[in-house]
Amino acid sequence: MADKVPTLPYFYGNITREDAEDYLRQAGMSDGLYLLRQSRNYLGGFALSVAYNRQCYHYTIEREMNDTYAIAGGKSHRNPIDVIDYHAQESDGLICLLKKPCNRPRGVEPKVGAFEDLKEQLIRQYVKQTWNLQGAALEQAIISQRPQLEKLIATTAHEKMPWFHGSISREESELRLHNSARVNGKFLIRQRDTNGSFALGLLHNGQVMHYRIDKDKAGKLSIPDGKKFDTLWQLVEHYSYKPDGLLRVLTEACPHPDGSHRGPASGILSRLKSYSFPKPGQKKVPKHAKIPSPPYLQYMPMDTEVYESPYADPDELRTTTVDRKQLYLEDGELGSGNFGTVLRGIYKMRKKEKPVAVKILKNEENNEAIKQDMLREAEVMQQLDNPYIVRMIGICEAENLMLVMELAELGPLHKFLQRNKHVSMKNITELVHQVSMGMKYLEEHNFVHRDLAARNVLLVTQHYAKISDFGLSKALEDSDCYKSKGVGKWPVKWYAPECMNFFKFSCKSDVWSFGVLMWEAYSYGQKPYKGMKGNEVIQMIESGQRMAAPVNCPPEMYDLMKKCWTYKVDERPGFVVVEPRLRQYYYDISH
Ligand code: ATP
Repeated sequence: MADKVPTLPYFYGNITREDAEDYLRQAGMSDGLYLLRQSRNYLGGFALSVAYNRQCYHYTIEREMNDTYAIAGGKSHRNPIDVIDYHAQESDGLICLLKKPCNRPRGVEPKVGAFEDLKEQLIRQYVKQTWNLQGAALEQAIISQRPQLEKLIATTAHEKMPWFHGSISREESELRLHNSARVNGKFLIRQRDTNGSFALGLLHNGQVMHYRIDKDKAGKLSIPDGKKFDTLWQLVEHYSYKPDGLLRVLTEACPHPDGSHRGPASGILSRLKSYSFPKPGQKKVPKHAKIPSPPYLQYMPMDTEVYESPYADPDELRTTTVDRKQLYLEDGELGSGNFGTVLRGIYKMRKKEKPVAVKILKNEENNEAIKQDMLREAEVMQQLDNPYIVRMIGICEAENLMLVMELAELGPLHKFLQRNKHVSMKNITELVHQVSMGMKYLEEHNFVHRDLAARNVLLVTQHYAKISDFGLSKALEDSDCYKSKGVGKWPVKWYAPECMNFFKFSCKSDVWSFGVLMWEAYSYGQKPYKGMKGNEVIQMIESGQRMAAPVNCPPEMYDLMKKCWTYKVDERPGFVVVEPRLRQYYYDISH
């Protein structure tokens, strides 16, 4: 796994090629001695340095489009460690087999590049300011969007650097370089156009040299005929330690004329704020964006407000009752159930108009029981506040009893996946992980859902899921399980053995259901235990059998499903274990 790499004893972090050679020399240069370091030009890539015949050889391990790793042109592997294991058996183009790791000398830690150091800080600032999030919502947003955020920051962070002067003219850049102390190697980078082309201005013996930095079709940046880089950051880092074709190395950043550069807290954030996040399906570049929106931005949540409660703004009055006059119902059903229908609506709050879903109880006689169910559901929902759980906005008592909720426009997960077979495994993992975060929250707050299934996971966007339908949910009071008085209309195929045998429900029985939900998701919305009756399913489970893995399901995920289907409650993991497993896996496949 790529993120296990930093803990490897033979990983040196962001050291230069020359440093790597020094370490190999110090360790004796035996044939096949190797070390791993971070690539200084490929984002997320690595470099392998190998000793052979008293010489050093260096290979880039690229991270490929589908998140696999390979030495350029070679066989793809799931992670850099597998690349190394493979080349310990097969030279396959390498100068020799990898024989012995060159471990870091005692006291030497992997070198953290300047960028890594700042990245975490930038991600936090970005989420906090651009999405206006704080506390748990901020943490959750970071966890779920980390891969996209890392790419976003990595490819835009140059804006925060003092050497980046934006789109100034060639003449202006010369003025700036001449006007401050005339130090050899002083440099700046300016933007030449909006197609990702830049220019490096470098002071050399009192003269300004200009080097074009072009972006190729794959998005890599390079000075003509020079080494290619994923980011301007890496380019500057590289030419700061070796000239590699330039007249000299880059030494110091040319200051901005009036100190207008506000340092690492401003530029990037203000510019990024001007992006309007495209809605799912729309691959439009925002009209006013100065540079084209990178492709991964299209997968960011379209409306980050959805991450936090509509009442997070202190100016909005928190209420559990919605005034009918502030609620507009639209035509067209979102769905329906026993109780009646769900319509789309607009809730006019003090400062904003919020699109909502409104569950409307049908006006029939003898529906007191259904009404009570709906009120109980509202009572549970009212106590929950998590980005991955549909929030209740309030109850409206008018011509009908109405439950006003956050809108999750794309509807139930299983139906969405049935319609969209092109959705990637990574995307499914992202969604399933979000569900596990919502469930971990329920577990922490001692709630059992009791009806967790793909039909009860609603999508806000293709990349944002929320758990819904709290009709059967219970707050666990003193014990860690709820004993039902009898069997109702139960979703047997989602229920753990102890629910069926002893009517006992706990967060662990929700974990069992979560395993079935995972199975539904990875099989693109197929029915679990297809064609089987409830009692046949029970028999199958009791005999120790479990559903087979969905076609093309990642083995790690099938493994996790089977863990969720551990027969004994005590041995079954909680969401406290399941969520980090999913988070880890999602992180691995996203890097
Ligand atoms: P029943 O009581 O018959 O089991 P149900 O509990 O399944 O019904 P819900 O799941 O709450 O009812 O809602 C029915 C349908 O309405 C959902 O499948 C979904 O399509 C739509 N729906 C419900 N809530 C929302 C929401 N917040 N946003 C968008 N659509 C929703």
